Amino acid sequence: MKKNNKKVIILGGGLSGLAAGYELAKAGHKVTVLEKWEKVGGLAQTIEVNGFRFDTGPHRWYTKNNTVNKWMLDLLGDEVVKVPRLTRIYFDKKFFYYPIRLFNALFGIGPWQAIRAVVDYDFARIKSRIFKQNLLTMEDGYINQFGKTLYEIFFKRYSEKLWGEDCRNISIDWVGQRTRGLNILTLIKETLFKSRDIVSLVDEFSYPKRGVGRLAEKMAEEIKRLDGEIWTGTEVVKIIHNKEKIISVEVRDKKGKKSLKGDYFISSIPLSDLVKRLIPQIERKIISLAGKLRFRDEVQIALFVKKTHITKDTWIYVHPKEIPFMRVMEMDNWTDKLSPIGTTTLVFEIACNQGDSLWRKTDKEIIDLVTDAYIREFKLIKRNDVTFGFVHRVPKEYPVYHLGYNKDVGQIKKFLGKFDNLQLVGRNGTFRYNNMDHSVEMGLYAASNIIENTKRYDIESVNIEREYLEEKKIENIEDERVEEYENEKT
Ligand SMILES: Cc1cc2nc3c(=O)[nH]c(=O)nc-3n(C[C@H](O)[C@H](O)[C@H](O)COP(=O)(O)OP(=O)(O)OC[C@H]3O[C@@H](n4cnc5c(N)ncnc54)[C@H](O)[C@@H]3O)c2cc1C
Repeated sequence: MKKNNKKVIILGGGLSGLAAGYELAKAGHKVTVLEKWEKVGGLAQTIEVNGFRFDTGPHRWYTKNNTVNKWMLDLLGDEVVKVPRLTRIYFDKKFFYYPIRLFNALFGIGPWQAIRAVVDYDFARIKSRIFKQNLLTMEDGYINQFGKTLYEIFFKRYSEKLWGEDCRNISIDWVGQRTRGLNILTLIKETLFKSRDIVSLVDEFSYPKRGVGRLAEKMAEEIKRLDGEIWTGTEVVKIIHNKEKIISVEVRDKKGKKSLKGDYFISSIPLSDLVKRLIPQIERKIISLAGKLRFRDEVQIALFVKKTHITKDTWIYVHPKEIPFMRVMEMDNWTDKLSPIGTTTLVFEIACNQGDSLWRKTDKEIIDLVTDAYIREFKLIKRNDVTFGFVHRVPKEYPVYHLGYNKDVGQIKKFLGKFDNLQLVGRNGTFRYNNMDHSVEMGLYAASNIIENTKRYDIESVNIEREYLEEKKIENIEDERVEEYENEKT
């Protein structure tokens, strides 16, 4: 193995930080990954409790980037399987397919609502052709794409449950990243022509058969094998800079504090935390902009159940406000390698804010809350089918795109850009609504910049595509990639 001597400190052991660390370690650089949790993986972990493995929320791998896909297949090899996806929306005691299938949606909501939906949609299209519109908010975005009726039925309730606030307070950018290019016309086209030129990546996805956490676990194993270091249970508390360079970090673990010097630093910790940890303190203006950045937190609840295939869904979006959880996933519909025979794990998500009344409830209270609600609403299991429950609290799960956030983020990043040996990567690290592939891609770019001693890999160019994230206008793109990979292997 080629030996290089750059010492790289990586802040955060999620997918972006680990991907950077893995590439750098492969290139022979000295890597130390600092992770505050006891385990790597960040937002994409698989937790094991008494023989049950469950993911921290539904994570399917799909990407439009062939290089990143091949990279994942190289990393995990035959651990990767294809999982058929069935995801539905639940409200008014009915299930609807998601992504929306036009006729299913129109029949499901009944004739009057369906007529209203079509009229509203036409109205939205005509309006957008005649008037130049200044679309700012999440509500503007959805109405422009789907019309008011479908927005109110399919998007408003869920979005407000997720964000805990009015859709008019959230930037249209979020809609752009989730559903740009998706509108009724594409739905009709998909329905009528069965995706001849618009192939969805949603019917099937790649997945590590022992859980999404294998991505991070495997990278950490490889980094250690290549003489890199992974320090879990280690929080970065100070980031020391001098003359436009980061010099060192101060970390805290169970044993106390330590200082660590490096030549290069890659940060995937939340952007606002990074700013606050810089010593000496930076301009007040930047600190106050960082203080404006908000994140939405989440409580995840796993129920271990003596039953299998309770539904056929990989996950279900649950819209009604009176049901406390917003999504429920069923692990045995992902693979049969995650739960002991004859059992499954249901994973519920409740978006909330750290310190609010839900966050402060005891684990038992939260487990009882979701168990009662699930049994009452769906009538699919009985109380004694549930053997036990487990609660996982996740701070800073979603960056909140408040109105004007991108101007604030832009100014913060411009300021941080003056630190020559610092790169920002990842979902909270760049304050961008990344999927796993985006975070990996950012990590790969950051590593390449250091390995090749260049700045030509533009991390900010990742995850700004204008297409709907779940679609690609190439036939059978996933199969094509796997085929490509198989050919290369042989
Ligand atoms: C519920 C849910 C479902 C999702 N579903 C999908 C999906 O279906 N498909 C998909 O592709 N993506 C999905 N994602 C997104 C995916 O999980 C993320 O994009 C990806 O895991 C982010 O990795 P990251 O490295 O950018 O960030 P993170 O995972 O947040 O990693 C940052 C790490 O930094 C650590 N850290 C923070 N502060 C400090 C500190 N001061 N010192 C040391 N360490 C620190 C954190 O503990 C964390 O481990 C989903 C996310 C969630 C939450």
